[in-house]
Amino acid sequence: MRKDTFPRFKQLLKKTGKPVIVTHWSPDGDAMGSSLALYLYLRKKGKKAEVIVPNAYPDFLHWLPSNKQVINFQTQESKALKMLSTADLVFTLDFNSYTRLEKLGTVLDNTRVPKVLIDHHRQPDSYPDYYFYDVNACSTCELVYDFIVGMGDRKLIDRKIASCLYTGLMTDTGSFRFPCVSAKTHAILAELLKTGIKPSDIHSAVYDSYSLDRLKLLGFALNEKLKLVEGYPVAYFTLSEKELDRFHYQKGDTEGLVNYPFSIKGIKVCALFNETEHQVKISFRSKGNIDMNKFARAYFNGGGHINAAGGKSTGSLQAAESRFVELVKTLF
Ligand code: 5GP
Ligand code: MN
Repeated sequence: MRKDTFPRFKQLLKKTGKPVIVTHWSPDGDAMGSSLALYLYLRKKGKKAEVIVPNAYPDFLHWLPSNKQVINFQTQESKALKMLSTADLVFTLDFNSYTRLEKLGTVLDNTRVPKVLIDHHRQPDSYPDYYFYDVNACSTCELVYDFIVGMGDRKLIDRKIASCLYTGLMTDTGSFRFPCVSAKTHAILAELLKTGIKPSDIHSAVYDSYSLDRLKLLGFALNEKLKLVEGYPVAYFTLSEKELDRFHYQKGDTEGLVNYPFSIKGIKVCALFNETEHQVKISFRSKGNIDMNKFARAYFNGGGHINAAGGKSTGSLQAAESRFVELVKTLF
């Protein structure tokens, strides 16, 4: 945990007029929820805030308030570069290394503007000038909530900000079931609900939004692609580019899939291998104190949390699978 003091942040915000908020590659519910909540808060404070994402995010997050204001670096690069050239502060949310931003990371690395990190992942890089970082937080949204309250602005949390924060709290905790969920998480949720947000509507907007192809891909993966590592409490899926194409794969279509094998009694580690054009993207999940952050960092060029981490591999899908099957045994 590392947090700069609120007097320091108050001084910083007083000076800033044009803050830019950036989040990680393939933004998820927590990335978009925290970025848009902070955006709406800073706008309420009279700042000309902007949000830049490195690439597109799933349709089931497009209902979020101010979604239309988000700039996609991949499709609107010159606009994003212009914004960054006039920014006087950059908030980096829900990641802790420029490697999570692809090309946008190189741009930020060469930008001399002060950087604030708000995040809950392990082992942050040294780029930030200001930290608001705590691995015990379930989500970056929880930290943005703490940040706003710590700044003395609890009253500014309206329905729009609350629905963004609720989304990240919900998606990063597997709908409030992961071990990091505490009384504090629920106390924050209770505060958010007081603004009038409807949790059932948010759950529906995010989870009841499958296309027929997505549901069929889930069925195919469970029926034909789920494998167990013999003698170990490990289950995983591999999905080739061809298989994904067959179901007209869209960004976000395999989100959550990695967790399904946990419903098999005794399973402690799950993984999902997705083959894309350039590389294999891997998701790792575990139960208890099996450290997937360490595993992903050591062997798959990635990182994350103890129970949820990600990584990548540039070789073939089969090579990544064989490497995993051998290495995962070292966890037991
Ligand atoms: P997911 O499997 O959902 O993509 O990611 C699980 C967790 O690991 C997320 O918190 C995510 O931010 C982190 N993560 C995913 N991929 C990478 C990666 O390539 N590098 C690092 N450092 N973290 C990752
Ligand atoms: Mn997160």
